[in-house]
Amino acid sequence: MRGSHYDIMIVGQGICGTVLSSALILQGQKVLVIDDGSNKAASKIASGVINPVTGRRIVKTWQIDDVMPAAVRIYQALEKKLGTSIVKQCNIVNFHASEQMQKAFADRISEDPTYLSIPALSNTITAAFEAPFGQGVIDPCWLVNLENLLHHWRKFLIKQNAIVEDEFNFKKLDVKANLISYDKYTANKIIFCEGAKGENNPYFKQLPFAPNKGEALLINIKDLDNSYIYKKTVSIVPWKDSIFWVGSNYEWNNNNDDPSLAFKEKTIAALNEWLQLPYQIVDHIAAVRPANIQRRPFIGMHPTFKNIGIFNGMGTKGCSLAPYFAEQMTANILYQTPIDNEATIDRFHNLA
Ligand SMILES: Cc1cc2nc3c(=O)[nH]c(=O)nc-3n(C[C@H](O)[C@H](O)[C@H](O)COP(=O)(O)OP(=O)(O)OC[C@H]3O[C@@H](n4cnc5c(N)ncnc54)[C@H](O)[C@@H]3O)c2cc1C
Repeated sequence: MRGSHYDIMIVGQGICGTVLSSALILQGQKVLVIDDGSNKAASKIASGVINPVTGRRIVKTWQIDDVMPAAVRIYQALEKKLGTSIVKQCNIVNFHASEQMQKAFADRISEDPTYLSIPALSNTITAAFEAPFGQGVIDPCWLVNLENLLHHWRKFLIKQNAIVEDEFNFKKLDVKANLISYDKYTANKIIFCEGAKGENNPYFKQLPFAPNKGEALLINIKDLDNSYIYKKTVSIVPWKDSIFWVGSNYEWNNNNDDPSLAFKEKTIAALNEWLQLPYQIVDHIAAVRPANIQRRPFIGMHPTFKNIGIFNGMGTKGCSLAPYFAEQMTANILYQTPIDNEATIDRFHNLA
């Protein structure tokens, strides 16, 4: 009956477009996703870690007690639906870089032990690292297999005839008060999930995007236990079999997504003074995170163009934040329930 008419068009199938389209489809919405399949998307470069604590004082990250259980629940449901592995618990062994950091970890445990402990670790792990200041464990942490999630969700969308694999071109977009037209498709609403490219979106370019470049080395370490993530000045994250992801850096206002020699040299130096096992570099990857200085998402419908929305700005934390906020955005679209005060784009008054 509706032919090529959709309830919602979504531009972008990174982690944001994936979990938002999934949440909308679960609510019975007819969705069309448009994505160019770029290999430089942040979601294809990210290590996929959900770490509940942050910073030198090892405090809880924003909203983690709500977003982490929601993320695990949603990824596990997708795992069942798509028949592939998407999320697993993978705790972080946090190696202290100095005596002060070792003390900060112990102090934090005495204040609030949620997520922190100092368990005994196997000899294979302790022998693999030079650790003059010891280590603690962050528990639970989760690891999202973004490659599986994005690939299998795309296959699902292809089967449902719900994806256009092409670059979105704003010249083909026509916006009327009650209808969005794009090429041969129409929809009631369009939501942009373009990641770092969102800063050029004509409807949302006033939002204070601050792109943040990050890089990683993929290295082969034959004898390292891949049931943990290891963190010191860099993180070593299980990627595939004996391949580990090593990163990252945070370069503000850098839109260049090419791997740099400076990062490679710095990371090799950090590894060489820490890791005691031989390794081989197999790849060097980079992408731009859709970040902003407030470190809060950009979520909601445009104040003037009420059928155009955005689901973006996840910065360094797309894996933990996107599933929880996709449900919030879906409820907002369908039932006009509010979006978190710190995440809604209503906090910016220059869009209207
Ligand atoms: C090195 C690095 C490590 C990271 N590690 C972690 C981590 O461990 N945990 C974590 O939670 N987060 C991590 N992040 C952050 C995470 O990658 C981002 O928060 C998240 O991927 C953002 O997802 P997104 O869907 O908004 O954007 P993207 O992943 O960039 O997806 C946007 C999609 O839209 C498409 N698109 C854009 N414009 C158009 C257009 N005009 N037409 C068609 N398609 C378009 C793109 O091709 C892409 O597929 C890391 C990032 C980097 C760079």
